[in-house]
Order: sequence, then C-alpha cells, then structure tokens
Amino acid sequence: MKILIVDDSRSNLAVLRQYVEHLGATALCAEDDETALRLFEQSRPDLILLDIAQPTRDGLAVARQVRAMEKAGEWTPIIFLSAPDRDDEIEKGIAAGGDDYLLRPISEIALGAKIRTMQRLALMRTSLLSLTRKLDAANQELIRISSSDSLTGIANRRYFEEALSIEWRRARRHSNPVALLMCDIDFFKLFNDTYGHLAGDDCLRRVAHAISRHSERPSDTVARFGGENFAVILAETSIGGALMVAEKIRHGIGELGIPHVSSPFGQVTLSIGIASAAPGFDNPPDDLILAANKALYRAKQEGRDRICRFDAA
Ligand code: GH3
Ligand code: MG
Repeated sequence: MKILIVDDSRSNLAVLRQYVEHLGATALCAEDDETALRLFEQSRPDLILLDIAQPTRDGLAVARQVRAMEKAGEWTPIIFLSAPDRDDEIEKGIAAGGDDYLLRPISEIALGAKIRTMQRLALMRTSLLSLTRKLDAANQELIRISSSDSLTGIANRRYFEEALSIEWRRARRHSNPVALLMCDIDFFKLFNDTYGHLAGDDCLRRVAHAISRHSERPSDTVARFGGENFAVILAETSIGGALMVAEKIRHGIGELGIPHVSSPFGQVTLSIGIASAAPGFDNPPDDLILAANKALYRAKQEGRDRICRFDAA
C-alpha cells in the first residue's frame, strides 16, 4: 500500500513516515502542494494524509485538485490532519473532497485504525464497482436479447415498432418523409415442404442478412416482422429512394441463388411492397405499415418476385 503524506513540517513528516512504514506501507512524502500533486499524478497512492495547514500551503486546494485529477470511477481516500481546535477547517476539508480527519498530535494507533477503515471502504467500493459493471453488462445483454430475433439475429418486431415510432416522430419534427419496405419470401411454405423446416430456417437467416447488407445507411432498420416477412425502415427517404433500395435487395436475393425447385422461378425470390409518407399529426405510423402491406399484396397478386409501390388510388 502506498500512502502520500503532505506536511510542510519536516519533523511531522519524519514521524508520520515512521508510523506509515511501521504499519507495513510505503510512504511518499511531500513538503509542498506542487510536489504532492506531482507525486499523486506519478504514483497514484492508495491513500493521502493531507495537512490542512493554511495560509503557507492550501490543503483544501490540493484535495480539490486530486478529485479533479481522478478519472471516472477512481477514488483515493483523503485523511486531513488538523489542529484540535479547528472545527471550521475540518468542515471545509470534508467539503473540499476529504473523507476523514485526524487531530494532532497524531497517535500511531489512531492512524493505523483510520487506514484500516479506509482500506475496508476502498475494498467495498471496488466490489460494488465490479458488481455495477456486471449489472450494466447484463442489462445491455438483456436489451440486446429482447430486441433481436433469435433465429436470424436481426431486430425483432418489438424493436421494429419502437424504431418506427421514434423515426415517425423525428420525421414529423423535421418534415422529412419515412419509407417502409415490406419484404416477403415467395412460396416459402412450398420451400419448407420441399427442403424441410431446418433448411427453411437457414434460408430465413440468409435472406435476413442479405436484406441487411443491402440497406446500408446507419439509420436504416431491418427487422423480422414475422414468419418469412421482413420490414425495412428507411429514414428521410422518398418513394424514389425506397425503390432503389428495394431493387438492390431484390437483386441481392437473386444473387444468393438459393434453389427452390417448387417455385416457378427455380430459386428463392422476394416480393416487396413499398410506401413512403411525410408524418403529419393525424396519420399514425400504422398507416405506413398498412400502405406497404397493401403494396406487398399487389406484388403477390401480380405474380411475385417484384416490387410494387403503394398507390392510394
Ligand atoms: P407467398 O408466396 O404468397 O408469400 O406464399 P408463402 O408460402 O410464402 O406464404 P404462406 O403464408 O402460405 O407460408 C409461410 C410459411 O412460412 C409457412 C410457415 O410454416 C413458414 N414459416 C414461418 N416462420 C418460419 C420459421 O421460423 N421457420 C421456417 N422454417 N418456416 C417458417
Ligand atoms: Mg411468403
């Protein structure tokens, strides 16, 4: 254990150094504030014994500086050394960032007891910090699990609804359009019937990743809406931009070349319905989902493996 002792009296320093070393700790000694801060910066002691003496030195300023130099999560216990009749000093010392105080003349036993208390506190603090870190990590993992689809790893329906509602409000504030693509695998029931459910799962994973790869902007959200149905939210995108993304996705699925002998296309294909809207105060995001789904329905009716845009007429 390293203990930094700050005192402008050499004789006091010598006595305290002896006590500290007697307790089995290493003493770092500073007679002035500048040396004290330099030693703190260089050696990062486990504890500071700080003479509060003013006006020749300013122990309070040293305490404040030490607190300012500590990084987030760091804590070095500071014990002020004060004259017995200076309650005001003690009060100021604690306010300046000190943790405890010892009254002069300092006995070795009292010093040993304080050091042990501070060590105990530091230990409790470290285990608390480590627990907090573990809890944070567990929370992050929980958020990740609750917002992603376990089969494909992309966002799930729950996350999609939240993301669309956030994007809808943002777009309303900035008067921007939001586009939505509804993508559905064609003849997927037949794919399962032909190749089995496990191959179906694998196909879903590959399609999900291909859709993600082709919606490249950080603000794009790709989610599994349900079954073999995927949704893509495109922020600040008009129908023209949405058509381009949809075409890239449809082309990307074609490039995967997943065989599907029971489909008239001979391989796995997607039908995509697109819609874009500028959110107003009287149209909920559900209207956009409805519009994209109507367009998807038309793409299916018109023969599949195609893109249709929502047409209000
Ligand atoms: P369409 O071209 O009109 O979209 O026809 P389709 O066969 O793709 O659509 P339908 O709604 O008739 O069938 C969807 C199939 O998707 C049925 C269901 O078993 C399958 N499916 C849904 N979720 C999963 C899944 O997680 N894994 C697998 N393997 N299949 C799934
Ligand atoms: Mg389908």
